[in-house]
Amino acid sequence: MHKFSSCDGCQLAFLNLGESLLQLSEQVEILHFLEAGMSEADAQVDIAFVEGSLSTPDELERIQQVRKNSRFLVSIGACATSGGLQALRNLDGQHDEWRDAIYARPEFIETLQEVRPIASVVDVDLELWGCPVSSAQVVAAVRSLLFGVAPVDDRDRVCLECKRQQAVCVMVTEGKPCMGPVTRTGCGALCPRFGRDCYGCYGPAETAQSDTLARRFAGLGLMPDAIARRFLLINSQAPAFLQTGRVFWHSGQEAEDD
Ligand code: SF4
Ligand code: SF4
Repeated sequence: MHKFSSCDGCQLAFLNLGESLLQLSEQVEILHFLEAGMSEADAQVDIAFVEGSLSTPDELERIQQVRKNSRFLVSIGACATSGGLQALRNLDGQHDEWRDAIYARPEFIETLQEVRPIASVVDVDLELWGCPVSSAQVVAAVRSLLFGVAPVDDRDRVCLECKRQQAVCVMVTEGKPCMGPVTRTGCGALCPRFGRDCYGCYGPAETAQSDTLARRFAGLGLMPDAIARRFLLINSQAPAFLQTGRVFWHSGQEAEDD
């Protein structure tokens, strides 16, 4: 388990497995997992899980080494698959402004101008989306890989899961700007089941109609910058969200300038 720029939340999805983690440790030998106390970063492995985005020159080098040492490389979570929150600095090339505003001594900070998802730099065998990933997804992926079966890549929309769970639609009944129609499931429609609108933390579903949903949000009364924030929050580097988010972000900026 390799950590790059991230909050460690997806590693906790492993640790939260509880009893399943004990069963898993009978099937595999865990060599490198700093949160759990194992440190063997350069070991040759069958499966490497990678959490976090590539945000520093050092990380760009380290991911190449991880790729060389691993038979399967699985990126886990929003940071690894689509940049995460830190990729917001990619918008309009704001790297230097943000670095200088945040750090007291910016001259000591070595970061890339743009945050990059793992698959933009090395080949990735499987991506597990989510912020954080769910423990069930992780177990299913490990089980498939151990038995030599191609893991299922669930790209259904959250809306479909809502129907399966018989959750009441918060967009239809309450006019909330729900991202469920364009977001892949994996969470079991967690937010709508508790009366909240989905904010897209599992990234784009297959053939996500982001522009259509953005127009629906405008119909609900959201201003362009609010629509942009729905698409650019956590998975901003996923193309299906980025293109729509950028258009509304720029039209919001132009409206402010006027
Ligand atoms: S609540 Fe959201 S995810 Fe559920 S059906 Fe309505 S729009 Fe789709
Ligand atoms: S409903 Fe949406 S925001 Fe909530 S956990 Fe699922 S994908 Fe994430």
